[in-house]
Formats: sequence, C-alpha cells, structure tokens
Amino acid sequence: MFINILQGALNLIFPDNCLLCRQFLNSQHKRQVCSKCLDSLAFNPTPLTAPDRHKYAFDEPWSVCFYNETAQKLLHAFKYQGKTSLRKTFVPLMINFIDRHHLTINKYDIIAPIPLHPSRLRERGYNQSLLLSLPLSQHYGIPHTENLLIRQKRTQTQTELGAKQRWTNLEDAFRIKNLDLAKDKNILLIDDLYTTGATANTASIVLKKAGALGVGILTLSKTV
Ligand SMILES: [Zn+2]
Repeated sequence: MFINILQGALNLIFPDNCLLCRQFLNSQHKRQVCSKCLDSLAFNPTPLTAPDRHKYAFDEPWSVCFYNETAQKLLHAFKYQGKTSLRKTFVPLMINFIDRHHLTINKYDIIAPIPLHPSRLRERGYNQSLLLSLPLSQHYGIPHTENLLIRQKRTQTQTELGAKQRWTNLEDAFRIKNLDLAKDKNILLIDDLYTTGATANTASIVLKKAGALGVGILTLSKTV
C-alpha cells in the first residue's frame, strides 16, 4: 500500500515518458517506449533467410526487425546512453518473433552473447547482448554461458566501416574460452545488430573449429 502511494507520487514527480516521442506513459506501462513508436519498428517478415553456406560459417541468422530510424534510435540509447531497461522492451519482441514464426530455438543446447572486448566492457559498464541473451535463456529454459568466447581484439564499431573493412576488421577477433562448452553443441549466439554478418561469421568459425555442431545467430535488428 505504502509502496504504491510512494510509486504514485514518484510517477507524478518523475513521470515516465516514451524515450522517442516523450509521450507520457502510465505507471502500468512496463516499457520505455509507447506503442505508437513500437509500431514504427519494421518487423522482419522472413526470418528464415538461408545464409550463403559458402560465405558464412553459421547456419541460421534470425533478426527481429530492420534497422530503420526507430530501431537505430532505440539501439543507440540501449548501447551508448545507458538505457539498459530497454531490455524489457526488446526481449518480449524477440520472444514474440521466435514464437510467431515457430523458430526451433529448443534445438539449441546453449545460448551465449557475443562478447565485448574487456576494455569496451569497462567503458560501457555492461554488455548489451548479455542483457538480451540471459532473459531469453531463462524464458526458454536453455542453459546460458558467458564462457564460450573471448573477444581478444578491440575492433572498430562495425557501423563506422565500409563493407570490405568490416570483414578484415574482425579477423582473429575471437578465441575460444572453454572448449568443452562448444564441442558437440548447437549454439545460439545473441547480438543486438546484424550488419554484414561478419561478426557472427568470425565467432562461428571459431566455434566450429572447436567442434560445435551448429551455430545460429539471433539479433534484434539487421541493416539489410
Ligand atoms: Zn513514443
């Protein structure tokens, strides 16, 4: 009772507004984005785009929505402005996407975030991909690990580079941390953004060399 009154008073003093359009959100609203802004996301109608097997080492790339203006603004706030509570908006969108398209997530033995380089992690204070991967693993009851890969090379942000540079930028970016976690496993990697597929590809090469049976990549957004 007291908590409710306090929460109500706090909402009057610090009302929650939509991160994008600043529209007032009532206190029942668990998200930081209003439904009108969420509706302006461009959801991906064909999640099962088969990758070019000669070009990519991963087996399945799944992306929830395209990287339109709304997605770009939200991911920027999520990664660079400390708006970590946006996970409460993103994770349900990812679950909805998986369930709506009947994606076979349960074939995966393990879920892992794409790791950040330790120095970038220190600067940012959190790995945004982990904020997505952990609740997804809990929701589907699939084991989660952060001990699969190490990011050993601090690479430039992929979005700042041209297509060709993105591939060379990522060479040797990852190494395996724990062989036992990869061997004979189907692994689902989680990232916030898919651009050329270079990040997922580089991680997948390392995992397959370590004996992974299959590697999938699920991202919130994709650029093309
Ligand atoms: Zn809004």
